[in-house]
Amino acid sequence: MARWAYVNGRYLPHDRAAVHIEDRGFQLADGVYEVVTILDGRFADMDGHLDRLDRSLTALGIPWPVSRRVLERVIRELARRNGIHDGAVYMQVSRGVAPRDFRFPSPRPSSLVITTRRVRRWAQPGQLEDGVPVITIPDIRWGRRDIKTTGLLAQVFGKQQAAEAGAFEAWMVDPDGTVTEGCSSNAWIVTAEGMLVTREPSHKILNGVTRLALLRLARAAELPIEERPFTVAEALAAREAFVSSAGTFALPVTRIDGHTVGTGKPGPVALGLRRAYIDDVLRGSL
Ligand code: PLP
Repeated sequence: MARWAYVNGRYLPHDRAAVHIEDRGFQLADGVYEVVTILDGRFADMDGHLDRLDRSLTALGIPWPVSRRVLERVIRELARRNGIHDGAVYMQVSRGVAPRDFRFPSPRPSSLVITTRRVRRWAQPGQLEDGVPVITIPDIRWGRRDIKTTGLLAQVFGKQQAAEAGAFEAWMVDPDGTVTEGCSSNAWIVTAEGMLVTREPSHKILNGVTRLALLRLARAAELPIEERPFTVAEALAAREAFVSSAGTFALPVTRIDGHTVGTGKPGPVALGLRRAYIDDVLRGSL
């Protein structure tokens, strides 16, 4: 089956789709992105992702490339053309094409690139039975981590370090010893007392769309919740730990820097929230 991509108004064969060499996304990482999961044919929290795209674009002063309504239509059409029943849509908006200069160019159309990919399984064998390992690394990123920018070099390094250590994810740690988030996920713990803890939204983390959905589900289940920073030591003493993102939903973490978390097996809070989240998407209520 042919694979299509969408670039600036046109559906193109994926292997021939390209942007201009002076696209500011390509040269300066002057752009933002979103990833939306498609689960059993349903787009998970499309509104949440388009709301955050709007916040990212507004924060950087990048105009919408097309209206929100048109963007949503194109996303759905590309997924349809590519026959994606389970997978993900990647969309990227940059400040457009201009001669290379750090300063903002005169007004011009923003660039829009959309691709899709198929996902065969949402968790690898063993991940839900045993949980996944994470490592901790210094957070070397800039001061506006709330913007979902394509400038991801710190996360590229972090993910590579995690892979080399045989870990699933790297949790980034600020100089004060608190965990900010994973390289492509938010970080959560359940303390020994049963308190669900995840860092509050600020410029220090990306406010995950999945994070927000899980918080709503946790509140509905009347779980005790604290939105606050936690340290690596606190995570090591926790009953449970997990990560959240559009592609992992909620995924249990059972080892941190080689140390076992809790019983060493996925806990009921992480698995329960994962189930509830997936059920919501399948019901079409997210
Ligand atoms: N934090 C970072 C740094 C991320 O890159 C991501 C997703 O890519 C997340 C958190 C999770 O966000 P979401 O749940 O919206 O996928």
